[in-house]
Amino acid sequence: MPGGVNSPVRAFKSVGGQPIVFDRVKGAYIWDVDGNQYIDYVGTWGPAICGHAHPEVLAALHDALDKGTSFGAPCYLENVLAEMVIDAVPSVEMVRFVNSGTEACMAVLRLIRAFTGRDKIIKFEGCYHGHADMFLVKAGSGVATLGLPDSPGVPKSTTANTLTAPYNDLEAVKKLFAENPDQIAGIILEPVVGNAGFIPPDAGFLEGLRVLTQENGALLVFDEVMTGFRIAYGGAQEKFGVTPDLTTMGKVIGGGLPVGAYGGRRDIMQMVAPAGPMYQAGTLSGNPLAMTAGIKTLELLKRPGTYEQLDRITKKLSDGLLQVAQETGHAACGGQISGMFGFFFTAGPVHNYEDAKLSDTAKFGRFHRGMLEHGVYLAPSQFEAGFTSLAHTDADIDRTIAAARQVMQNL
Ligand SMILES: *Cc1c(COP(=O)(O)O)cnc(C)c1O
Repeated sequence: MPGGVNSPVRAFKSVGGQPIVFDRVKGAYIWDVDGNQYIDYVGTWGPAICGHAHPEVLAALHDALDKGTSFGAPCYLENVLAEMVIDAVPSVEMVRFVNSGTEACMAVLRLIRAFTGRDKIIKFEGCYHGHADMFLVKAGSGVATLGLPDSPGVPKSTTANTLTAPYNDLEAVKKLFAENPDQIAGIILEPVVGNAGFIPPDAGFLEGLRVLTQENGALLVFDEVMTGFRIAYGGAQEKFGVTPDLTTMGKVIGGGLPVGAYGGRRDIMQMVAPAGPMYQAGTLSGNPLAMTAGIKTLELLKRPGTYEQLDRITKKLSDGLLQVAQETGHAACGGQISGMFGFFFTAGPVHNYEDAKLSDTAKFGRFHRGMLEHGVYLAPSQFEAGFTSLAHTDADIDRTIAAARQVMQNL
């Protein structure tokens, strides 16, 4: 396997050393093949929001398994999850399930182009929308971590219609609309960035994009693959009260199985085949196992107090890390919303990817290795958000902050 991994973000290339090989997960913990236990703040990049291998999710999966793993035909459970997503996410009137966030973003891009009859799109520097060609322009996540300019193998013709702007910069977006009149199909963004590290939207940014897209006959797409069901049950659009035309989802809605989804306004979604002419398909899409894990995970999240608990525990972690950095004399900034957090080794504030790049990544690498030795597993990159779960306890957070104090004293 190239680099020993099946996804580059799992490698330790940017922090130094070799990736750890894991054997099992439970609750807030992950164990490697040598039996070492870590407190896990990657949470399989978000899906493990209820805690790994939640007993109710496993029980539901065991029952579903006995009925078979894939039908390749309509399945009752797809309807259950579709209704849950439509009830939860303000913009979603119709939904299509796929198998990954990448697929959801590819499809939504085709859809906004089909609906508007325009080819150009706007994305933001440092935002990641999966690994499809059109999005590998100033992309975040592993592309940012590995410092790749853009990927070779992506023809210029596929990215020629991808325009980019700095995150949180409405003026830059206005300029793009002015320079490309009646040519821009839409804007896609992470409503809270997690793939360039954690960067929240400035006040008025999301609202401004909503107005600009409406004024210019373009569509607004929130890529909520990370934020959906994570920063609020209804995602960033519920949290910030800004309703996009279309939304992509993934990660949490699969409860740890491969699921993505895109949805939005009925008049736009009606263009998707077989209701309409825009083609998009999938052999394993909506398979009963993935739907079961998603349904049970959303049921758990709907219980009272879940997001309050995530917010409380994550704020405690984030505040604790910043406090320790200050006490030990390291320039640092960061923040959190619900169970999503970030921490940069730079004084900040960080409003966009350029600001994030001022971080001391060599120091982060040493910090990451130190935390591993203390039994804490963080994402192996300065440019990835971290995730907590309902299984993380106050004692886990206390242990993490104590470990950070020891590590930072010796950085
Ligand atoms: C993870 C992610 C994707 C890609 O999802 P995959 O399931 O890894 O293909 C797309 N957009 C955002 C915002 C993500 O965080």
